[in-house]
Amino acid sequence: MPEAERPALRRLATARRVAKHRLSRRNIGRRGQLIGLTAALAAAAGTTAVGVSSSATGPAPTSTGLSPSQADALTAARIDRRDLGSRDSSRIDLSLAATRKAAADKAAKQRAARLATNATLTERRALALASAKAVAARKAAAKAKALAAAKAAALAKAKAAAAKAKAAPKIVLPTTGYHLTARFDQAGGRWAHNHTGLDFAAPMGTPVRSVMAGEVIQADYEGAYGRQVKVRHADGTVTSYSHMSEFDVSVGDSVSAGSKVGAIGMTGNTTGPHVHFEVLPGGGSPIDPEPWLREHGVNP
Ligand SMILES: [Zn+2]
Repeated sequence: MPEAERPALRRLATARRVAKHRLSRRNIGRRGQLIGLTAALAAAAGTTAVGVSSSATGPAPTSTGLSPSQADALTAARIDRRDLGSRDSSRIDLSLAATRKAAADKAAKQRAARLATNATLTERRALALASAKAVAARKAAAKAKALAAAKAAALAKAKAAAAKAKAAPKIVLPTTGYHLTARFDQAGGRWAHNHTGLDFAAPMGTPVRSVMAGEVIQADYEGAYGRQVKVRHADGTVTSYSHMSEFDVSVGDSVSAGSKVGAIGMTGNTTGPHVHFEVLPGGGSPIDPEPWLREHGVNP
């Protein structure tokens, strides 16, 4: 290369860098740029015309007769064009890659959305399940509470009943399977005075029982009363059981409410099997047994 052409080549190189830089920054038609660039290169190389078509550089010379500097400029322009092409294909590749990446991103987003939806569904199901469980637990707790309350109420009732039974003396009727045949103060030919007790008629041999707890103070044959047992209770009231067929207790025995003292009979002044029952407060004069029995909790 002739010595004189070196500065021209340096200028050429500089011009190429500048042109490239501009190309990379400007968004204008590439072909036009290229033509402009080639013209610029030719100018930089000190020529008045180069072998490329350009209206800016005057009439096109023939393809022959290019000086070495002109040939160099042309080669440089061609290299430049190839570089540009390669860059274009790179850009296309980049663009493709970008498109692919965008598609991949979109797919990933959709997948994530699906996952999120599924997760939401799963969460909803879990929440619903938890809610159902909570409801069931609440129901069970309420049931258990109600059950416990019912149990407590039953226990309280039983306790109250027990306390009442303890407070009030236990009482039973003197016999079972009976019907009342004569009431207190009833007038009748069989008695010297009006009737002094309550008659419970029942089959012979039916047990006769002490109506309350107490102590046996008589177990003997007593004239018109026949076989008679008397029991004194805690409050001093005496009850008597007459016309019995047998004795099951002796004087001094302690009896409970319901203890058998004898059996239905026909001893003494009687026309049929029954127990003549009397209540004598403080062991004195007899009173009507019916209200007394009712007051103490049994209904004859
Ligand atoms: Zn009687």
